[in-house]
Amino acid sequence: MSEVTIVGGGIVGICSAISLQSEGHSVEVIDRGLDTEGASYGNCGLLAVGEVVPISKPGILPKIPKWILDPQSPLFVRPKDLVGQMPWLLRFLWSGRRKRVLEIASGMAPLLHRAEDDYRALFDKVDIADKLVPTENIMAFNSKADYEADRFTWDLRDSQDFKHRFLGTEELRSLEPGLGGPITCGVLLQGWLQFSEPGVIRQRLLEFFVANGGKLRVGSADRIETQGGKAVAIHLIGGERLAVNQVVVCAGAWSGKLSKDLGLKVPIAALQGYHHHVPNPGVKLNHAVLYANGGFVLTPMESGLRIGGTIEVAGLDPRPNFARADLIAQKALKVLPGLDISGGKQWMGPRPFMPDTMPVLDRAPHHNNVVLAFGHGQVGMTLGATTGKIVADLVAGRRPAIDLSPYRVTRF
Ligand SMILES: Cc1cc2nc3c(=O)[nH]c(=O)nc-3n(C[C@H](O)[C@H](O)[C@H](O)COP(=O)(O)OP(=O)(O)OC[C@H]3O[C@@H](n4cnc5c(N)ncnc54)[C@H](O)[C@@H]3O)c2cc1C
Repeated sequence: MSEVTIVGGGIVGICSAISLQSEGHSVEVIDRGLDTEGASYGNCGLLAVGEVVPISKPGILPKIPKWILDPQSPLFVRPKDLVGQMPWLLRFLWSGRRKRVLEIASGMAPLLHRAEDDYRALFDKVDIADKLVPTENIMAFNSKADYEADRFTWDLRDSQDFKHRFLGTEELRSLEPGLGGPITCGVLLQGWLQFSEPGVIRQRLLEFFVANGGKLRVGSADRIETQGGKAVAIHLIGGERLAVNQVVVCAGAWSGKLSKDLGLKVPIAALQGYHHHVPNPGVKLNHAVLYANGGFVLTPMESGLRIGGTIEVAGLDPRPNFARADLIAQKALKVLPGLDISGGKQWMGPRPFMPDTMPVLDRAPHHNNVVLAFGHGQVGMTLGATTGKIVADLVAGRRPAIDLSPYRVTRF
């Protein structure tokens, strides 16, 4: 068994750490601040199993001028970042052509079909089975026409065996009496479940890892030193040099810089998201609700109601623009009469996004003791446990249960 060093202690890093530890490896996780509240803390907590369709898809092009010009749009590009992000944006748009989107959906489906089972097995092992809430998600719309307008997405999900059921006004009201305002209908997203609270889950997984002999190191990996086709050390900011045997890079949106040390140019972007988390919302939701017309999600969690979402293209470590969190909180007031948003805590964090929305799950091509696992976009929480199992296969040199060719690092 090897000594494995994992860079990044988000959901992908910690699930990988537990998988490797279970196979007898000695594992150390390096994270630059374990109380850093990254995407694995602040996400909307959906086990979004049917999310096979990328954000860039046919019909997106005409919407772009509005996104760029309107700071209130669900996907906004900060004007000063437009030029710098242009190469990534062009690749993102190019990935949205029909033929490629069909390939992406087929590429994502095998991962997403395994997500629930892999989490159930992991959560049973860690004794946190209750953290996966067995309630399906609802997507809400202002009108049936709004639902029908995305027929392409629904048919594509359906073709990959991710089903949904339309809910008319009455049925929606009986499931979610708290919803109101302009919402008139919805769909039940069958098989999509919910995490009780992502930050709590990550913490419980970390505690399990440490209790079973795993090592955690607070430090920021500055570069990977290589020699003769292998990674030999990780240099931390501050000067410390850690000799390594096997390395897993799962530093989320920050993985691009470390990949450069391995001779790889990886087109990964940080698509910033926001939340406004309310401790005492004063209204009850029975399901997580994705509000399609508003571009945000309402998720009832252990510590209150999370209003989360929006996408902002603003580079890797931008200063937060909490006007975007205010915006979704204000929109939520319109669809949840009686909602109290006072005392809410706001947060920003980056989705690690490849232009085609698919993750990188691969061995580094020229350094065979390095595994790459990052770029999970809007479904990184969903795919944590499945990725952890694949990482363990790659480290062991086993053939994983699914074909990994769609997720090759060299696909661009
Ligand atoms: C608003 C929002 C809502 C979302 N909702 C959902 C959802 O409902 N369902 C879903 O499946 N997904 C969702 N996502 C996406 C999901 O949160 C991410 O895909 C996932 O958390 C990525 O996990 P990760 O471990 O790859 O990265 P991260 O969580 O970003 O973790 C990376 C870790 O690496 C560390 N790190 C980075 N660089 C270094 C370095 N050089 N040295 C040491 N450590 C380093 C960081 O400190 C961080 O802890 C959402 C994202 C956002 C922003």
